[in-house]
Amino acid sequence: MQPCPENEVLQRCDALLRDLLAHEDALASGSGREAAWLDAHLPLGLPAAGQPLDEVFARMAAVLKATPSSSSWRFLNQLFGGREPVAAAAESLAAWRNVSMYTFKAAGAQVLVEKQVLSHMLQKVGFGAGEAMFTPGGSLANLAALLVARDRADPQQRDAGARSGLTVYASSEAHYSIGKNAGIAGLGRRALRAVPVDRLGRMDVTALAALMESDRREGLRPLMIVATAGSTVRGTFDDIDGIATVARSTGAWLHVDGALGASLVLSRKHRHLLHGVDRADSVSWNPHKMMGVPLQASVLLLAERGGLARSLDERADYLFQSDEDELNPGHRSLQCGRRADAFKLWAAWQHLGDEGWEARLDRQMALAAHAADRVAADPALRLCERPMSINVCFEVEGCPAEALCERLDREGRLKIGHGDVAGRRALRLVCVNPALTDKYLGAILDEIKSAARRLNKATC
Ligand SMILES: *Cc1c(COP(=O)(O)O)cnc(C)c1O
Repeated sequence: MQPCPENEVLQRCDALLRDLLAHEDALASGSGREAAWLDAHLPLGLPAAGQPLDEVFARMAAVLKATPSSSSWRFLNQLFGGREPVAAAAESLAAWRNVSMYTFKAAGAQVLVEKQVLSHMLQKVGFGAGEAMFTPGGSLANLAALLVARDRADPQQRDAGARSGLTVYASSEAHYSIGKNAGIAGLGRRALRAVPVDRLGRMDVTALAALMESDRREGLRPLMIVATAGSTVRGTFDDIDGIATVARSTGAWLHVDGALGASLVLSRKHRHLLHGVDRADSVSWNPHKMMGVPLQASVLLLAERGGLARSLDERADYLFQSDEDELNPGHRSLQCGRRADAFKLWAAWQHLGDEGWEARLDRQMALAAHAADRVAADPALRLCERPMSINVCFEVEGCPAEALCERLDREGRLKIGHGDVAGRRALRLVCVNPALTDKYLGAILDEIKSAARRLNKATC
């Protein structure tokens, strides 16, 4: 992968932005044209070979100039418009930090900023004793309100569900969102059936078939199987092809949770890990993980058309006033207002091409294999298993992983987490940053070992 010279990127951004702002009074170029015209005239196709920055910025400029600015005085179409320039700057600056707001450990001062804003807003509406959260749009805020109201009225619903009988199957190492969503969707969290895993953390396909069969005999209705492609702790891949065969024979929907690992379909060397993915009904894929696109960039792919509108379409004549449904993705979205997350992925794809992504992914996989070799060769460390993808799990002899991670964080040395690997707590080193080198890996392992020594000295 070509290193991206950040100074040059910033200079070009500055120039492009000034150009865009200077012409903001007009509506977008090509505005009033059919989508088909823009499709034919804009440089939209994704290349196999990465393009130089000149060319990428020219293509971005062409597309941005054909994108309306909601800050143009001519843009009165929606319930938003007229930017606060500082807010726009902050949005771009935050992308250069690129953290996720789930923990203070990961997001630092951003968590405190959020608390300030929320408590100020609570005060303003007179909810001094209340609580609040950010959501991706008002639609999901409304969903959350409905769920909170439902569960106050009937505390059983979240676990037991309103319509019992539908079941969801996922490995015991699947992501926590699977059970959470069963609660949200009204199936009840108990509808999730945890399927045991083999030694490497892969779903036991024979156990899956047996569990589905016995559930069916008891009158339950198996709805969905979730195969995990890149599990959250160990980075393992379920046998998608084997699971697809069970799904076909039972009529259950097959979803592949590829939030972490679906990116590997772009690697000729590693796509075998996803063998059978084309037999699934749906796949989730997070470009904000292995592909390094700023949060949030998450995609759900469905094998057949029609399902999204069937589940999500609403009539809203104050919103959907022109063009056919195909050009109005709002008919097929969980959200109403929604960030243009595709753009950053598209721009990166222009620069890297399929080949650049492949090189990035192969590099991440090679780094993980190399890190595993180093861990295995080190007498102070115990490698849990050969990694299937980019998560390298290991223990430090004589030192509990929880305390070690805590200490590394508190001393400002490393932010690293731990997870359960076959019943033991292990450090999880995720080789997602392709800029890591052998030298950095050595320094990371040295930090871990010397923190373990300090910790052991302190406790005895
Ligand atoms: C990260 C992850 C998710 C959740 O994705 P978010 O974008 O963080 O919501 C789901 N499943 C798996 C396997 C993941 O690794």
